[in-house]
Amino acid sequence: AARLCSGAGGEAEAADGDGAMLRHLARKLRASGPVTVAEYMREALTNPGQGYYTRRGGVGESGDFITSPEISQVFGELIGVWYISEWMAMGKPNTFQLVELGPGRGTLTDDILRVFKQLASVLSKCDVSVHLVEVSPKLSEIQAVMLTGGKVQPNPEDKSAYMKGVTKTGIPIFWYRDIQDVPPGYSFYLAHEFFDALPIHKFQRTEKGWREVLVDIDPEVPDQLRFVLSPSRTPATQNFIQPEETRDHVEVCPEAGVIVQRLASRIEKDGGAALVADYGHDGTKTDTFRGFRNHKLHDVLSAPGTADLTADVDFSYLRKMAQGRTATLGPIKQREFLKNMGIDLRLQVLMQNSGDTATREQLLHSYDMLMNPKKMGDCFNFFALLPHHRLVHPDKKDRPESKSPLPPVAGFNELILK
Ligand code: SAH
Repeated sequence: AARLCSGAGGEAEAADGDGAMLRHLARKLRASGPVTVAEYMREALTNPGQGYYTRRGGVGESGDFITSPEISQVFGELIGVWYISEWMAMGKPNTFQLVELGPGRGTLTDDILRVFKQLASVLSKCDVSVHLVEVSPKLSEIQAVMLTGGKVQPNPEDKSAYMKGVTKTGIPIFWYRDIQDVPPGYSFYLAHEFFDALPIHKFQRTEKGWREVLVDIDPEVPDQLRFVLSPSRTPATQNFIQPEETRDHVEVCPEAGVIVQRLASRIEKDGGAALVADYGHDGTKTDTFRGFRNHKLHDVLSAPGTADLTADVDFSYLRKMAQGRTATLGPIKQREFLKNMGIDLRLQVLMQNSGDTATREQLLHSYDMLMNPKKMGDCFNFFALLPHHRLVHPDKKDRPESKSPLPPVAGFNELILK
């Protein structure tokens, strides 16, 4: 049911849908020739009229794929605890913004806000606001209902936000289309299954050098798409392939790189931290571009706009794009991160508090989905951007014994219960 680790291809499901996106793309390809996979993916996912996220939204049991926050409330609760723990370790600043990129149905933020409410006495002197970066009008509506009960104001006078409201827990909340629109300030960023939805370029090593994989119309079959190789190098082959690259097939997501650069600059300037959780690898995998529809693998070129398209996140690329502006931690496997965050203890408490067998079974089942190495435990990873001073005292080099040790970053280190 979840979009598990890579495995491109697979059983393609018969395509239906109204074919509007396919007709639009076919016209474009006939008129101006093949497009990059990135351009194809951007059109298929976020085209303002026909894009997959714009129209279908996809997340959840009734959608095309299910994600960890939709599986268990414990997931979001532990992430909420991570932010509180970092807020405390960074000296309890008196204000912070929680900024989520690609919030889906809003479940993760909802679970985090419940933790903030439970810890209201700890946060009492802190001014918290929530900022969601979401391109899909359909999903932003679902988020508004989930988080505010639907009481939102579209196009508020604050120019940068396209919608605003107050959460059920009394916190101001704003929606934007782009991270650049979010006001500056001390912020905790969150991106869960966000970077995998951003457009990738695909490259193939050939005898004549690197070529880019493009999407074209199949001349033999009407309105059918196919992959072709660029006849020569493209701007992307020149810019995105490293000279030391050893793989024969490479996927690069420049948009992810730009967003990480922005997050790193903002954290360097205004403080905070970013937590990225997604399936991915550390610069080793090759062909991970795949589609999902109704919880099944779906041919990426069939019925665009009706299926989710995704590719594994390359964490080595994200690390590189932070450009040393922040420190990075991870990627660490989801099952290790959640264990370090105390998921076993949380499960025990929930099991003790639940009266009926069905609830207990459900709790064990969702724990297994999140933690089992064959399910989501191993292929999902956590990765963090943190200010350098959070990991190393600025004056450590000169006077190594001068300060007390910094508290370890939760999740990335083993949990020590005192
Ligand atoms: N984080 C959620 C949803 C993941 S699906 C969860 O884990 O359940 C991806 C989310 O990113 C959706 O909300 C989608 O609409 C949004 N999205 C995709 N491309 C985007 C873009 N370029 N800018 C902002 N949001 C985007």
